[in-house]
Amino acid sequence: MIGRYPTPIERFAGLSTPRTTLWVKRDDLTAPRYGGNKVRKLDFLLPEAERRGVRRIVTIGAAGSHHVLATTLYARERGIDVVGLMTSQPRSPHAVEMLRASLGAGLDARAAPRMSDVLRLLPSVRRKGDWVVPPGGSNPVGTVGYLEAAIELAEQIDRGEAEAPDVVVVALGSGGTAAGIVAGLAAAGLAAKVVAVRIVPPSLAGAGRTLALAKAALARSVLRASTAALFRGLEVDGGWLGRGYGHPTDEGEAASARAADHGLGLDPTYTAKTFAAALARVESGAARHVLYWHTLSSAPMAPLLASAPAEADLAPELAALFR
Ligand SMILES: *Cc1c(COP(=O)(O)O)cnc(C)c1O
Repeated sequence: MIGRYPTPIERFAGLSTPRTTLWVKRDDLTAPRYGGNKVRKLDFLLPEAERRGVRRIVTIGAAGSHHVLATTLYARERGIDVVGLMTSQPRSPHAVEMLRASLGAGLDARAAPRMSDVLRLLPSVRRKGDWVVPPGGSNPVGTVGYLEAAIELAEQIDRGEAEAPDVVVVALGSGGTAAGIVAGLAAAGLAAKVVAVRIVPPSLAGAGRTLALAKAALARSVLRASTAALFRGLEVDGGWLGRGYGHPTDEGEAASARAADHGLGLDPTYTAKTFAAALARVESGAARHVLYWHTLSSAPMAPLLASAPAEADLAPELAALFR
């Protein structure tokens, strides 16, 4: 097991209102070397890779992908190699650091600027003993990690560590995180609505795909939930994307500043937009208890960058992925 569970759940009194309490589920703290949401997926993906005798994982992500970094760090610890087909994304200091850290951890990175390049390269990269893991680690196996996370939350509520949320706000990228939470909350009999804040274009994520992933994860576990409960438990909120994936928004930057005042570090791609949505739900006063599920690692980057190439030393085709 990579992760240290349960992760804490905290009341954020300073960002609550008299009507609505803000809670934060601290999945930034899933693991000390590198945390965030990808750790929970890898806690199911890597044992599955070992069961299958996989020698190399081939996966896909944006140039600054957290998923590719986490996969490289923890697969390499287990002697499994990682190839990443990396797509282009807007340049940010954070994204560049992620790629540098991935390379420092031993990633074999191949530039595939557009999805069509990924599809073209994949057959030629693939060889015997490889396992192709989709973007974000969001196959049914990885999604079980978030099904378990929602059960963990239900147990924390049972123990009186937090009030049952009316709304759970979480980022929606490749969908495994939101899908697992929807499935786990429904299986636990919690009526919370998961507000999945879409940070990619509608063609890449939506309710249909997310619910299909929720069902596929349930099918791999002993837990059960009705289709009606899954359907009721998910709302996709596409109102925070701005110009697109990886482009910062004014609302996101404002939310980042407020989060920083309360000790929470956010990134422009996922968590700034999602936290902005959570704050809006708190301020609307429509729900009593809003839980923001924090998904970005807060582990220090310095140790991961110590052995990483400098930006100036990136291969030109990798450097060119940052537009
Ligand atoms: C990958 C990621 C997400 C999105 O999770 P998905 O399961 O891909 O939808 C959210 N936040 C952060 C920080 C991430 O790295």
